[in-house]
This record gives sequence, C-alpha cells and structure tokens, in this order.
Amino acid sequence: MILLPNNIWKITGQKSGPTFCILGGTHGDEIVGVEVVDKLLDRFVLDRSEFEWETDQFSGTLYLGFGNPVAIEQGVRGTGGADLNRSFNFDDLLSEPSQSDRADLIRARELYPILKSTDILVDIHNTHADSEPFVCTGTFTKNHKELVSHIPVHKILTDPNFILSQDVGKQGLGTTDSVVNAHGGIGIAYETGSKTDRSHVDQVIQTLLGVLGITKPQTCLDQAIYSLDAIIKAPVEGTIEYIENFYQGWYQVKEGDKMAYINQTPICAPISGVLLFQKHKEKVFEGDSIGYIAKIDDII
Ligand SMILES: [Zn+2]
Repeated sequence: MILLPNNIWKITGQKSGPTFCILGGTHGDEIVGVEVVDKLLDRFVLDRSEFEWETDQFSGTLYLGFGNPVAIEQGVRGTGGADLNRSFNFDDLLSEPSQSDRADLIRARELYPILKSTDILVDIHNTHADSEPFVCTGTFTKNHKELVSHIPVHKILTDPNFILSQDVGKQGLGTTDSVVNAHGGIGIAYETGSKTDRSHVDQVIQTLLGVLGITKPQTCLDQAIYSLDAIIKAPVEGTIEYIENFYQGWYQVKEGDKMAYINQTPICAPISGVLLFQKHKEKVFEGDSIGYIAKIDDII
C-alpha cells in the first residue's frame, strides 16, 4: 500500500493492467504539464479533496498529479539547491531524513514509492529555449521504443554515456524517469515545447489518452534517436548571449562554429552536432555548463 503524497491522485481501472504515472510541474515554472494534469484531473476526479477514484475508462492504475506543488505555486523551477528532477539520486533519497533536508528532496522521497512501482511514466516538461517537442530518457530499450512510437515527436534524446550525470558530479542524474527505468519500468520526460508555448496542450492530452488506451494510440513515423555527446562550458564569467539561431533547441552546428559570446569572448562549438538546453542571457561563472551537443545515433 503506497501512501499518497499531497497533490497526487490515484485512479484505479475496473480491470487490472499497468501502473501509469503522469506528472506535470516537476519543474514548477513549466506550465504546460500543469495545465495538462489539471485537465486530466477534470476527466477522472469529481472532487479533488478525495484522492482515490475508480474509472471504467482504462485498465490498470494511474497516479496523476503535480510533481512539485510548492515550486508551481512560486512559479520557479525548484525551491533551492538541486531541483526536484535532480533530487532522485539514490544516495540522497535513501539517506536518513533530517530536518534540514531541502524541500525538493523531501518531495522526491514522497514520490519515490510511486515511481518505484510505476510501469509507464510520462513526466511532462517544457524547454527554456524554443524547441520542437521531443522525448528525453536516459535509457532507451525496446519497451521505450514502443512507448515513444505513440508520442508525436521526431526526436528522442538519450544519454547512454551519462553526460548529464557527470555534469552534476553524481552517479546518476536523479530524474523521475531514471527511478522508473532503474526499477524495470519505462520512464520518459516529454518535453512539450518551450515554456511560453501552450499550443501543444490539447495534443499532449490526446497523446496521453492514447497511452492510457482510452483512445486508439497514434503512431509517429520518422523518429530519430540522439545521444548527448558534449558539454559546452563557459570560458569566462559573465552574461551569455547566444547569437540569433544558435539559441534554438536542436540547432545544427559544425565544430568551430561561433555560437555565443560572454562579454567579448566568443564560444565555439566543441564538436559538430545539435545544440540542446542552452542557457541564454543568464549570468554564468567560468566552467559552468551552458549547453550540450547531441549526435544522431539511429533512425527508427
Ligand atoms: Zn523540466
């Protein structure tokens, strides 16, 4: 029996089936997921003060809710220190709880039992840079391939060489999908476009209804698998300004391309590939990671 954390609802189908988990607002300032979860709750939950419901709409169990309600309320990514989606490192999670623990780590501990029991996780995110929707998953198995074939994205970002976790200096990145994947489930982060772009809300809801088997799932053709390959580091301290198109997610660069400036110092692409997760107009320190480059692995 899993204790339900606040802001998570459990919806049980009349027939047995997989355990699903759908989260929005794991990063509190990414509002598309919050809006999607809000609309899905309207579909399954008549009274939000009751946390357990039954449905004849799908088979299995669905945990549906808001990843980080405190951060959502404050309109921030996380509430200090590593954000929630970097707080599921097993070392941190399984350490003795203490009164001085960060709020995001406390929330990670609350969500951990649900994620451990989840067969299929879709954690809904937005990017800061303009970007087409895509899927992120550290691990990519044939089960992931089956799931993502029903998500309308043409790009899947994987991290087989643990570039992101190296970057934070931990054994694992500590994301929601990493917990699900480590326990034999299929976990993905669904990046549904930029933070300011709400045009994908209805499409994301339709996609999730397909994943739950409520509607016939769509099939997306032409999906390419990319793997993260390099970290771009700030050469000096200052405010980073990407040059026009180099701020776009998935923008193609060639090794040596001049992409950005910090003060007068140019930043060039360390390798050829596509740009992801660029920081822009933010103050950075020398050696900070300011973006990543991924390379294409496969087309499915
Ligand atoms: Zn996010």
